[in-house]
Amino acid sequence: MTDFTLETGPDGIATITWDVKAKSMNVMSEEGFIELDGLIDTALADDAIKGIILTSGKDSFAAGMDLNVLAKMKEDGGDDPAASIFAGIMKIHATLRKIERAGMDPKTLKGGKPIACVLPGTALGIGLEIPLSCHRIFAADNPKAKIGLPEIMVGIFPGAGGTTRLVRKLGAMSASPFLLEGKSLAPAKAKAAGIIDEVSADPMAAAREWVLNATDADLVKPWDAKGYKMPGGAPYHPAGFMTFVGASAMVNGKTKGVYPAAKALLSAVYEGALVPFDTALKIEARWFTSVLLNPSSSSMIRSLFINKEALEKGANRPAVEDQKVAKVGVLGAGMMGAGIALVSAQAGIDVVLLDQNKEAAERGKAYTANFADKGIKRGKTTPEKKEALLSRITATSDYADLAECDLIVEAVFEDVSVKAEVTKAVEAVVSDNCIFATNTSTLPISQLAKASVRPEQFIGIHFFSPVEKMLLVEIIKGKETGNRAVAKALDFVRQIRKTPIVVNDARFFYANRCIIPYINEGIRMVGEGVSPVLIENAAKLVGMPLGPLQLVDETSIDLGVKIAKATRAAMGDDYPDGAVDDVLFWMADQGRMGRKSNSGFYSYDDKGKRQGVWEGLAAQYPVSDTQPDLAEVQHRLLFAQVLEAVRALEEGVLTDIREGDVGAILGWGFAPWSGGPFSWLDMVGAPWAAEVTATMAETHGARFETPALLAQMADSGESFYERFGTGKDKAA
Ligand code: NAD
Repeated sequence: MTDFTLETGPDGIATITWDVKAKSMNVMSEEGFIELDGLIDTALADDAIKGIILTSGKDSFAAGMDLNVLAKMKEDGGDDPAASIFAGIMKIHATLRKIERAGMDPKTLKGGKPIACVLPGTALGIGLEIPLSCHRIFAADNPKAKIGLPEIMVGIFPGAGGTTRLVRKLGAMSASPFLLEGKSLAPAKAKAAGIIDEVSADPMAAAREWVLNATDADLVKPWDAKGYKMPGGAPYHPAGFMTFVGASAMVNGKTKGVYPAAKALLSAVYEGALVPFDTALKIEARWFTSVLLNPSSSSMIRSLFINKEALEKGANRPAVEDQKVAKVGVLGAGMMGAGIALVSAQAGIDVVLLDQNKEAAERGKAYTANFADKGIKRGKTTPEKKEALLSRITATSDYADLAECDLIVEAVFEDVSVKAEVTKAVEAVVSDNCIFATNTSTLPISQLAKASVRPEQFIGIHFFSPVEKMLLVEIIKGKETGNRAVAKALDFVRQIRKTPIVVNDARFFYANRCIIPYINEGIRMVGEGVSPVLIENAAKLVGMPLGPLQLVDETSIDLGVKIAKATRAAMGDDYPDGAVDDVLFWMADQGRMGRKSNSGFYSYDDKGKRQGVWEGLAAQYPVSDTQPDLAEVQHRLLFAQVLEAVRALEEGVLTDIREGDVGAILGWGFAPWSGGPFSWLDMVGAPWAAEVTATMAETHGARFETPALLAQMADSGESFYERFGTGKDKAA
């Protein structure tokens, strides 16, 4: 394996080029680090070499660290994973510190070799931490490139010196959006923010010139120079004090204390600011170790990085030939159809967007035009690109225009007979190979497939709203759906760069099946006299992005009523949610339909800004004098979702818990800190979950009864990931 190569030019500049051959973007592996370290030694020891340029052989610099490396560091530690992780991190620090010191005398700070870093494009995570250790960072003027430290988004923080260096370079306040929010910037903006030093059309030439002219003083980092003061002030400086007090409050406000990485990051920054640089690196390494050992971080890495990527790469794709989509027909140019047309055109796929008449189809196409216009205003796209995007979408009401489509995505009204009618009309014009997908949210795929002459080519592709923002797509197999249809759906989802899960056909599939009980539990508690403020805060304090009442306001009360009525009709006497409907239907009777009517469980001002909980609610559903514990409310809200996920697995709707976890976070925002419902169960342990749910079933009803599978796991002492996890046999 050679990820790094060294070549010395006639001017005495050694160029170290990073180029991981098997990957489209560089990612750092354990071996990669060893190679880089060796080449730095070689270049520093060779008297013929005057300076070093570190760059990449690709059009980007690096996508980051292979997070499997971190998982391995932990595994390698056996009984003492902390020691192994800490040692591994300190080794990385040593390499980067060697680059930073570049052979200079630590006392006189003289005699080092200039080391410049050249970023041809995107530089993320360790791909920015390495440059931050170099003496000067040059980037190509590539507006598409992203420069940043996104670690926090997968539950860790920059632990290879990025935290300590960025804070010392920019100050705690200015560094916080990059560290705490994982914000990334295009090169010009990264330069303006002070993260990188130069942006130019020919960064190699600029770096070369800089290396040849660099003086001893140019190589000394501010924090290694005498009299260094942290920009904005260290914690005991009056200005710094305010920053740290504010940051601490902000982090707790945003994370509600459930994300260990954010807190650990802040501690590393605060404590690191009080000590010399090398000690600060050690502190950073200790906090980083503690984060890696926290089950929340390992679960987040597993779900949001390792398994998400595995699913995107087709972990559950049947082995049939490439099914890439060339031309997609989208039926129904309403809210969903318009969004599906947009994301397909963005992926370079030709789209035929069909509605009942040409005007309706054109309205759907205008959604893409509006989207592009907003992008032009924000400098994210150009009028030329907008035209190219629109030229891919043909708006029509003529079925003959669908003839060449190899995939159809149907998003017409949620009505069996309307859907049957369009299915027949499509099949009369398309080729025998065409796959037909429906975007239904509530109708069984197997029932809709009855309208098709090719049920093995009939499948569900369920998008979430708004299509262009939501990352998850649920693929639903009907009873007769064949492998080619599954592969086609997966290849399509890959083309439009979303994350797929593949589930079997059952009421509400997977995501809606779990989120509806969450909303219902919140509404039910209102009916019981639990304070709505307690309900909403309990949800947020357990890491749900929206409380159940806010969520139903967003998705609309009338949609809730519609779903409740349809479910009641389908379930008859088994329907369990009468108490929920009392509240929900009453809200609808008051005309409070949620955000869209500017009135729901919450009040809204004239501009649509959400205010407090609607005061009129208490007149109908008075808040009881005695309120449940916070923990009890949280358990009700969490188990409402988690037990449904377990039942979906038990019933074979889910066949892979990785999909259950990834789908929960991306589909409905299930407490991301937990890594998903199955990871959460593994964290708290099946025995505890079984015990708590048994009590809850007695107090609150049969919906909390311990599913047989969970009871079994509690008895056997196995965890879900031990039994069903990555690389193991599928659940069903
Ligand atoms: P919508 O009412 O906004 O759009 C439906 C469109 O279909 C309309 O433009 C209508 O003119 C068109 N249409 C109706 N009958 C037609 C026919 N016979 N031929 C051609 N076009 C026809 O609805 P929507 O919210 O976009 O939902 C569409 C589908 O997507 C439904 O099945 C719905 O359950 C599903 N879905 C909706 C959401 C959501 O959040 N709205 C999420 C996932 C799935």
